[in-house]
Parts: sequence; structure tokens; C-alpha cells
Amino acid sequence: MLVKGSEILNKAHQENYGVGAFNFVNVEMLRAIFEAADHAKSPLIVQASEGAIKYLGIDMVLSLVHTMSKRYPHIPVALHLDHGTSFESCKKAVDAGFTSVMIDASHHPFKENLELTKQVVDYAHSKNVSVEAELGRLMGIEDNISVDEKDAVLVNPDEAEEFVKVSHVDYLAPAIGTSHGAFKFKGEPKLDFERLVEVKKRTNIPLVLHGASSIPQSVRQAFLDTGGDLKGGKGVPFDFITESIKGGVNKINIDTDLRLAFIAQVRKMAQENPAEFDLRKYFNPGIEAVKAVIVERMQVLGSADKI
Ligand SMILES: [Zn+2]
Repeated sequence: MLVKGSEILNKAHQENYGVGAFNFVNVEMLRAIFEAADHAKSPLIVQASEGAIKYLGIDMVLSLVHTMSKRYPHIPVALHLDHGTSFESCKKAVDAGFTSVMIDASHHPFKENLELTKQVVDYAHSKNVSVEAELGRLMGIEDNISVDEKDAVLVNPDEAEEFVKVSHVDYLAPAIGTSHGAFKFKGEPKLDFERLVEVKKRTNIPLVLHGASSIPQSVRQAFLDTGGDLKGGKGVPFDFITESIKGGVNKINIDTDLRLAFIAQVRKMAQENPAEFDLRKYFNPGIEAVKAVIVERMQVLGSADKI
């Protein structure tokens, strides 16, 4: 059943577990995500970026998610706009039937971020839709970073408190050292958990971790074995994810892991069966691989067996 984002995340916040927010760009990814949630008995957040909406058309995004949520009526699912860049973009998603939107104005100065977020919150709440915002800049931090440099890029707990109080945003993505894609850390992975705990204490709402793909060994190996090049990229280790959840993260965004798992299977199929041109024979192993990644992740996050 399609529900608003805060319905899923407030429960996770109260009971202290994480819910995966999985990106999709096609039927195959969406099938894998729903089938995994069904298998793991987990609540679900599916998310589409502006790029995914452009690729599929917003009407198809909605109809695919409605079809899948009718197929699995026992799974509470929120449809979330990932990284909305403007009020108009968020309004379009709200009007189309998304149940959660992110306004990402984190590259603006604090005051402008707050004003734009508040504008989106006022509109979205009038339509019973939840809102996520972001504070700080998403980028990896290194061991030798100075305190000043850290304060310049990562979330400021004082600001987070004021931001949530004034904007009434439903959940917040605080920058604590993760970044998007496969290339998150130059050296050893490092996140600022102290800062995270402080933000949770001051805001007391669900927090969101972006750039949280882990690139587990099985995914890495399948990608490399089929000729993929990760260029030394590494993800956020599972124990960092569980530590983040202990520190107050309840929504964990996962995209890169799913892409790597899917593409490795398509590539393997192509290499091993040069005469094959039945699309389903390429996509089915991809779906199975993505499902396995998601089921494992739901167990790590603690959302498995919550429905
Ligand atoms: Zn993100």
C-alpha cells in the first residue's frame, strides 16, 4: 500500500532501525526491489531522481509503482523524489502522487536553504506529503582534515536544530562524510558519528544517509570478474551503516550497489552467450542479483520482518 514517507520513517525512528530507499529507472529494478521487500517482509521506500523521471516520464513512474504496490498490498511503500532541485520540481512530484519529496538546497547558504525548504514543506504538507532536506555538503572526509575544514563542509548541529524547528521538515540528511557514487573515500572510510549523534539529539526526527552504498565483496567481485573497472572505489562498510543507525539514521539511500549488481549479470550474459538476443535472458539474472543485494541489506538495516 502506498503510504506517506513519514509513516514508514517515524516508526523506524521510534523503534531505532533503518529503511532502505532504493532508486529505480526501469521495470526490472522496481520488480527486484518489491520482490526483495516481499521476501524480507520489509517496509519500503522507492525513489526516483529527476533524471529517472525524465527517462521514464512521471506518469510511468507513478503507474509502475501503483501496479507493484497493488501486486504486494501488504508492503507499506513510499514513493520518494530523490534530490529535487527546485520548488517546481517538488510540486510536480507532489501533484503527480509522490508521497515524499526531497528538496536539495544544501548548496545554497543556510538561510536560502531554510526558506526554500519551508516553501516546499508548506505545499507538501497541505497535500499530506512528507519532505526531506539536506544540510552540509556530501563529500568524503580524510584523516588529515582540519577542524575548520570539517566545519565548513559537514552539518552544523546548531543549524540543524534551528532548521528543523523553523521549517518543520519531516526528515533531514546531515552531511557526515559520505558522498555519492562508488568513489567515496580516498583513504580509509571515515564518518563523523559524534556529529550525527548530536544532530539526532537536537532534532529528534528521522535522519537520512546519502551515498550509503557499501559495494559488498560479492558485488565488487562480480563486477570486476566481468571486466568492470571500479577505479579503486570503495563503499560504506556494513558496520558503519549499523553504527549510523545506532546514531539515529533511519533512511539509507542505495543506488550504486544495485547498478553494479545488475550490470555485472548483464555483462556476464553477453560475454558467455554471444548469440543470445532475448532481452529477458539478460535481465532475469540481473533482477535475481539485485534482489539478493537488497534482501541482505534489509537484514543489515533492521527493516526485515517489520511487516
Ligand atoms: Zn543523494
